Amino acid sequence: MILVFDLDDTLYNEIQYVESGFKAVANFISGQWQQDAVEVYDRLMDTLSSKGRGEVFDSVLLSYGCLSKKNIKQCVGVYRRHVPSIALHQAGERCLKRFQDWPKYLVTDGNRLVQHEKVVALGLEPHFKRVMVTHRFGIARAKPSPYCFQLIAEAENAAPQQIVYIGDNPAKDFVGIKPLGFRTIRVLTGAHKAVRKSDQYEADITIKTLNELTPVLLKRLQEH
Ligand SMILES: [Mg+2]
Repeated sequence: MILVFDLDDTLYNEIQYVESGFKAVANFISGQWQQDAVEVYDRLMDTLSSKGRGEVFDSVLLSYGCLSKKNIKQCVGVYRRHVPSIALHQAGERCLKRFQDWPKYLVTDGNRLVQHEKVVALGLEPHFKRVMVTHRFGIARAKPSPYCFQLIAEAENAAPQQIVYIGDNPAKDFVGIKPLGFRTIRVLTGAHKAVRKSDQYEADITIKTLNELTPVLLKRLQEH
């Protein structure tokens, strides 16, 4: 079988990236407006948990009396361009080792530069035949589009039934590829782990961590 992995909250915990980016932004705000970097960081994290991701920079800049479009843009720039301090979680690391001789691809949505920095920081490139950031192929090719998965099928000269996608987000990871016969595995990690969707959105198999991803499980899935 050909293994295709999602990145964020599948192979590493995405909150690590957020924390790492917020540290960079806290240093930036601290330098620009003479604030204590640790205090700014705490404020960013508190705002994340109270208001969600969309409003963090607006809200924190406002609290320091320096909210403007330009300053928001600068914070977003610092966040996206920072060199992330992130690591694979143990199950992710073990899983890549366990399947080191299997053909593997990475398919991830998100900003090209950001995703590239994550892949480099995690040292993922040597593990994968190809790392695909869907946005490079156009916004319309982001998940749930099956586009990148079809490219993999063509490149491998494989039927969709021989390809399995391992992801964490039932809103978009499985719904576009399941009807075409691709196999799907959901791992219950990260921000979406408590989300339950209708069968159409759920994967063929759900596992708690990547430790449960074994050749035996994949065999069962292929015969399914
Ligand atoms: Mg994900």
